Amino acid sequence: MLVTQEPHLADDERRSELRENLADVTARIAAACAAAGRPASEVSLVAVTKTFPVSDIRLLSELGLTDVGENRDQEAAPKAAQAAALGLPLTWHFVGQLQVNKAASVASYADVVHSVDRLRLITALGRRAVAGGRELCCLIQVDLETDEADEAGEAGQADESPQAGRNPARGGARPGEVAGLADAIEAEPGLWLGGVMAVAPLGAPARPAFRRLREIAGAVRARHPRATTISAGMSGDLEDAIAEGATLVRIGTALLGGRRAFVR
Ligand SMILES: *Cc1c(COP(=O)(O)O)cnc(C)c1O
Repeated sequence: MLVTQEPHLADDERRSELRENLADVTARIAAACAAAGRPASEVSLVAVTKTFPVSDIRLLSELGLTDVGENRDQEAAPKAAQAAALGLPLTWHFVGQLQVNKAASVASYADVVHSVDRLRLITALGRRAVAGGRELCCLIQVDLETDEADEAGEAGQADESPQAGRNPARGGARPGEVAGLADAIEAEPGLWLGGVMAVAPLGAPARPAFRRLREIAGAVRARHPRATTISAGMSGDLEDAIAEGATLVRIGTALLGGRRAFVR
């Protein structure tokens, strides 16, 4: 259930707030790139606008932002439609866990899907992309959390979810599954492989996890040279992600402010 935000500040006030936040985030990205000896142009910014209204998306677009991310189809689909009706020139990123029965909807408005983590999703996205005459960029979401538990020899709790083997909380393919998924995406009409994505594990340092993602990304790129995107880094850890090669950061809170808790 989506919980609406605080009553909105007047448009002008919200615009200057977003302008300041955008300047701060841009400066953080630039500083992190400088520290890593990378050109700032290597890192693109996706504003994760979940729980925030289309009026914010419009303001961000007017401030020059081009890429928007959402994590739930129920929220993203109407927002993408409203933004399209406003004529906003945006690239839409779907960054949340994706169920197969939502794939058709997501493939109708998303340009980039960051959360591809299983074969059934690939065929479902591909079928719909072809039907809609679209080419969808897919990133493979890698589960860095379960992997670490495995390496530590912890079996973890029995997984009763229908997606056995996957991180039930946040999704993602095991590192060992990535190569097969990459080949499947490239073989699927309507889809192309853009690279990899991950969320830092909870309660563990982000940097080593992002380093692992970078290694996985390198292996994928060696086989699929177009797959250059490393989607990693959020408001709290974008510096660690950029230090480990992220080419795309997904920023919500630092741009838009705090989200109210919501119940799924
Ligand atoms: C919400 C979300 C983000 C943005 O998180 P912030 O910490 O608010 O910057 C990034 N990636 C994914 C997958 C998300 O769900």
